Amino acid sequence: MNIPAATRTQAEDLLTFIDASPSPWHAVQTCEQRLLASGFCRLDEVDRWQLTPGGRYFVIRGGSSIIAFIIGHQPAAETGLRLIGAHTDSPGLRIKPKPAEDAAGMIRLGVEVYGGPILATFADRDLSLAGRVNVRTAEGFTTHLVRFDEALLRLPNLAIHMNRDVNESGLKFNKQTELPLILGVADGNKADDRFRQPIADALGVSPQDLLTWELNAYDTQKGAFWGVDREFVADSQLDNLASCHAALSALLATKNPAASCICAFFDHEEVGSESAGGASGSFAGDVISRIAGCAGLDAEDQRRMLARSFFISADMAHAWNPNFPGAYEPCHRATVNAGPVIKTNANQRYSTNADTAARFMAICAKAGVPCQQYAHRTDLGCGSTIGPILAAQLGIPSVDVGAPMWSMHSIRESAGVLDHGYMIAAMTTALAD
Ligand code: ZN
Repeated sequence: MNIPAATRTQAEDLLTFIDASPSPWHAVQTCEQRLLASGFCRLDEVDRWQLTPGGRYFVIRGGSSIIAFIIGHQPAAETGLRLIGAHTDSPGLRIKPKPAEDAAGMIRLGVEVYGGPILATFADRDLSLAGRVNVRTAEGFTTHLVRFDEALLRLPNLAIHMNRDVNESGLKFNKQTELPLILGVADGNKADDRFRQPIADALGVSPQDLLTWELNAYDTQKGAFWGVDREFVADSQLDNLASCHAALSALLATKNPAASCICAFFDHEEVGSESAGGASGSFAGDVISRIAGCAGLDAEDQRRMLARSFFISADMAHAWNPNFPGAYEPCHRATVNAGPVIKTNANQRYSTNADTAARFMAICAKAGVPCQQYAHRTDLGCGSTIGPILAAQLGIPSVDVGAPMWSMHSIRESAGVLDHGYMIAAMTTALAD
């Protein structure tokens, strides 16, 4: 399989992007750094905004959701908006507010299950901590991102000698009693002190000034290429940082567009999107209203703008796995490295309809990339994403698409190198279309 050098470079950049983003807060920080380096200007929701045609801006809500946009040079009521949405969060294990427990001399950290991870894949991995921590100050508190590069934590498997039918029955964990992560030996210390000390040391503060945290257990193993032609990537959080990276790459490559281009990356998709920064919240609608307001659009022209807009909801798709052919709808196989996947569900678990699918096909044709169509097995429940939520909220014609991937919600997912390049090309074309 021939991988063009430019496509290889895009995939290498994807792995760099993911490895820099072990939590939703880090993902937003990684986006912010790239946006600032490309001349985007950070806006604050508490300020009055003044936006000018050609201007490049971004705004962050809650530290873990970000919307970046370029103001088009044509009247918005005549062109509409070009939107791409994705999500910054991934399923996994989150450290509890008072996590540390001394279990017969071993310190372990209590976790909550965030979203729907494949829990068995978290066993025997070199896990560590990443997220945000609030530290007490004289004025109140300050927020710090924290990340440990070395492995601090582990979920050790039970030996097969004590779990004889694991290969027949599958690896199962009781979420309360069997998921806490081993941090170390108590060695005469209080459990809470053992937990706080490394974080305090990393931040250069006193352990007792650590007030609150939102911390992920993340996999320290870096992303890698695999396959006989290195035609696949493996990494954590491909769902959905691969879509964020593709959309961001497309936006950064966009210069002086006719229509305003918006990339919105939301937290909390994996838990239903119901939050201030989630896709169900007001974030996207607020930013769009302010863009329209700054352009001087009245209520009538705002509706005209929305009616002329197009929204691509980008989230990863299920790739056909030859070892499990019975899991797939036989006429709707999505193959790795065969192009972006249009996802359709009659029950509106995806926002795609015949018109928006046709429009996305035309975008792919214009970009010179293949595309595929996916439908879930009729006898299996279908997943969902931010597409239907934002389509309902904004009333914008929408399509749900994604790059095909294996092992969705495993701590180590994989996908195709070519597909990532195809997705960037399709999105770049869509923003200019
Ligand atoms: Zn997803």
